[in-house]
Amino acid sequence: MKMIPLLPEVAAFIDARQALRIGGQTSDAPENLTVVNPSTGRSLAVVACAGHAELDLAVQAATMAFQQGDWGRMLPQDRGRILWRLADLIEERAPIFGQLDALDNGKPYAIARDVDAHWSARHFRYFAGWPDKIEGATIPVGTPDRLNYTRVEPVGVCGLITPWNYPLLMASWKLAPALAAGNTIVLKPSEETPLSALYLADLALEAGIPAGVLNVVPGYGHDAGDALASHAGVAKIGFTGSTRTGREIVKASAGNLKKLSLELGGKAANIIFPDADLSRAIPGAFWANFGNNGQSCTAGSRLYVHADVYDQVLDGLTGLAAGIRVGPGLEDPGHDLGPVISEKQMQMILGHVETSQKEGATVLAGGVRAPGDGWFIPPTIISAVTDEMTIAREEVFGPVLSVLKFDDEADVLARANHSDYGLAAGLWSQDVTRVRRFADALEAGTVWVNCWGETDAASPFGGVKQSGYGREMGKDAIGLYTQTKSVWVG
Ligand code: NAD
Repeated sequence: MKMIPLLPEVAAFIDARQALRIGGQTSDAPENLTVVNPSTGRSLAVVACAGHAELDLAVQAATMAFQQGDWGRMLPQDRGRILWRLADLIEERAPIFGQLDALDNGKPYAIARDVDAHWSARHFRYFAGWPDKIEGATIPVGTPDRLNYTRVEPVGVCGLITPWNYPLLMASWKLAPALAAGNTIVLKPSEETPLSALYLADLALEAGIPAGVLNVVPGYGHDAGDALASHAGVAKIGFTGSTRTGREIVKASAGNLKKLSLELGGKAANIIFPDADLSRAIPGAFWANFGNNGQSCTAGSRLYVHADVYDQVLDGLTGLAAGIRVGPGLEDPGHDLGPVISEKQMQMILGHVETSQKEGATVLAGGVRAPGDGWFIPPTIISAVTDEMTIAREEVFGPVLSVLKFDDEADVLARANHSDYGLAAGLWSQDVTRVRRFADALEAGTVWVNCWGETDAASPFGGVKQSGYGREMGKDAIGLYTQTKSVWVG
């Protein structure tokens, strides 16, 4: 098997034991975190692992940077210029970011470079335009001789906690608005995929972000993550991860009543009506679930198909699954899907498949580990799924698609909404009145019609129900990282 050669910068980066990035400097920690390459199952890199003490140092550095005000009180135009420069640097170093994420996440290099890194740069570029547009208002109050106006201010030190499925992109989604608003940051990336966040911290300094404004501290969730969520010096937590961890963070944050925004799990319903253009709906529904190997919070993992087209859709899906190539992140030439993130995750996914069979579903494609040292599972399609089955209710977060049959429109709406989650939903239909009805009635933060997975730095994104609260992206994201002060002048 031929592999893409490592860039010299990447080889040097993973060979060195990476330290924490605190106060604009590298900072050691007594513990190590071993990062494993899911394409090989072997150790890839060792990085310093933050615990409570290191976390505390990072919060102190961020607090000092916030109080000094070199970032928050800088001319907003200058803050924007620096964020734009950071976007340029991310774009320029996209091959480096691409290799780092392909190595520690396992996703194909071309995707890590052209999707994750490119969209991260776009995200910083969009938010680079915000600092000089964060405006207050003058309020026409009813008290004579008083001027009342508002100031929209940064919240202070923000703790950002991110998952492993889009290592660079999830960090960028949070960092760009938080920095644009003038906050200082402690970022704790996932223990599975800390490399691109550490590299980004170096680039932020190179772009001109003052020391101490962005601190990056890899560590375990129950340790460094919990220390961040409960730290009295942290004003806000921006979190993306599982619903279970989201609940832990709500509890941990209660001490100083932090602001929270939570982007949590999902179990998205995707509905194919008989009038859909199947030449688009079938590949659309396939990639809605298997994009990023199903390791996506918006994966369209509950596919409801009308009885009239059920067999045709299943044939199309299994045909597509048969043509998919699965391989290591840096394989040359590239392939379609990488490994799942860890052995534990692989066992959990295969366990879900087994349970679905015990509960009466049929595995039409995949469902077993694919050959190789890494943790590979080919696209798995399960038919004859019913709403009560575990596979239809719980988030699998892997390459497993459940296909459910429906006959009646009102019935499928109730079934689609019968979920604890509400991150995304979608439908495929040519009937504009039905499209409007469903777009209104589906209980989800995002609804996709005749497409799937689109997001944009300018468009709000987030969940309802147990998929969390708060909207990242667009002007809503600025709201997540600011607070309004009312000033009265006599
Ligand atoms: P996870 O919840 O296990 O971990 C996410 C992050 O939280 C990691 O950095 C982890 O170290 C940290 N963490 C774990 N326990 C913690 C604790 N007690 N206190 C503080 N931090 C803690 O999730 P994961 O396995 O990394 O990611 C997969 C999950 O993330 C899925 O449920 C997926 O749906 C969700 N996700 C959601 C979105 C979204 O935008 N809604 C995007 C990506 C992933």
